[in-house]
Amino acid sequence: MTGKIIIISAPSGCGKSTIISAIMAKGDLDLQFSVSATSRSPREGEIDGVHYYFLTEQTFRQHIEKGNFVEYEEVYPGRFYGTLASEIERITSSGHNVILDIDVKGAMNVKRIYGDKALTLFITPPSVDVLRQRLESRATDSADAINERVNKAEYELSFAPRFDRTVVNDNLDIAVKETHDIIREFI
Ligand code: 5GP
Repeated sequence: MTGKIIIISAPSGCGKSTIISAIMAKGDLDLQFSVSATSRSPREGEIDGVHYYFLTEQTFRQHIEKGNFVEYEEVYPGRFYGTLASEIERITSSGHNVILDIDVKGAMNVKRIYGDKALTLFITPPSVDVLRQRLESRATDSADAINERVNKAEYELSFAPRFDRTVVNDNLDIAVKETHDIIREFI
């Protein structure tokens, strides 16, 4: 039996990582995280092979040339991210379900390849205004950076109708429960 593929996307600041961590911590859905490759540098606390496979741009390009990626995107200028076919294969062929945290375009591409074996789930903020307020209250970004994130979020939100399912993260506990229920039903 082969495992299923769950693809989760969300604009930055929507609580996607928190929701994914909470669901994986429950441990009842036999989910394993697909570790993406990226050409960006590790942030503090990030471990190679756990959070990402951190590659040089040259090595990343070699993987592209060899056709090793199911999908890849330049999510931010000069920063590449990609899902390795070997990663999905390794997890699903041993019967586990795989969870992918990738951007909206990557999500559409993986769905196109795997069809009914894959579920695309989009997490949204209650509104763009609420997202802006959340980013402002975190006070970690400059006004320019916040505007950039909000503009990107508006673009990403335009992809929502193309996802199989959508969860609004207004209340975190409810969003975790809804996401968990949707995944359980799918697998
Ligand atoms: P970060 O640099 O904050 O870890 O991630 C930035 C963005 O890249 C997030 O939206 C994340 O979902 C996306 N991302 C991470 N891995 C992949 C991947 O393998 N493929 C694609 N298309 N996007 C990814």
